Amino acid sequence: MTGSTGGIGEAFARALAAQGCNVVLNGFGDADATERLRAGIAREHGVEVVYDGADLADLRQIERMVAAVHARFGVIDVLVNNAVTRHYAPVEAFPVDKWDQALAVNLSAAFHTIRLSLPGMRRRNWGRIINMSSIHATNLVRDRVDYMTTKAAIIGLTKAVALECAQTGITCNALCPGWVLTPHAERQIARVMSEKGVPREAAIEELVSVRQPSRRPIMPAEVAALGVYLCGEAAANISGAALPIDGAWAVT
Ligand code: NAD
Repeated sequence: MTGSTGGIGEAFARALAAQGCNVVLNGFGDADATERLRAGIAREHGVEVVYDGADLADLRQIERMVAAVHARFGVIDVLVNNAVTRHYAPVEAFPVDKWDQALAVNLSAAFHTIRLSLPGMRRRNWGRIINMSSIHATNLVRDRVDYMTTKAAIIGLTKAVALECAQTGITCNALCPGWVLTPHAERQIARVMSEKGVPREAAIEELVSVRQPSRRPIMPAEVAALGVYLCGEAAANISGAALPIDGAWAVT
């Protein structure tokens, strides 16, 4: 589970642990908070939870992490590529290093974790790969060329892997959430509250109403629950899909 020290990744890690899965957390953040998260999930669900701080922009660290996971658990049954980096700027002013970072973390890291996990999944003829895309793969906004490019490209990666695994017990799907109430969304809420001098509920209403016809934010646990469903046997024939969970945003 990449990028699982907060937000949707953390919710996903909790949901998989609740199903009895051992979990590998990855991502950056305060060391004490990460250890509390790791120990808390392990205690609550009685599963093994380990943390690996591999920087997904660094191929060698990805390779080391996947090898360590295989050494500890033997096989990766469920791989969730969730980590993300974001930068906001118009194309001609977009810092080249931020572009390279987005390609590495949001896209290439998923390619590498998939290619390194697939041999073990093929040996067992079972696996679930879930790649986090976004509503912004299809519904576009200005000044987010890194995000829109990588979130669209990860759907291509998802389909390519699904096709190659179609006759196996391995599925590969992408999730395309709309506006999810994560720490990233909380920063947007805080900005609107301070800029407009409005209370939290009004800021949420303003942010969500221009996005989702549902006029409700999506909860991280809802995204995680969809992912857990994809991991079950009932979803064995869902592969290569880019599934929206966006309060009908994609139809606007
Ligand atoms: P977040 O910003 O809260 O967390 C991102 C995670 O990625 C963190 O754990 C961070 O430490 C990790 N990360 C960043 N760079 C890394 C690197 N170089 N190496 C290792 N880890 C790294 O994310 P979120 O808002 O919960 O979103 C999770 C996923 O869902 C992302 O792929 C995002 O694009 C997608 N998504 C989010 C929303 C939303 O509303 N928040 C909407 C649509 C899609």
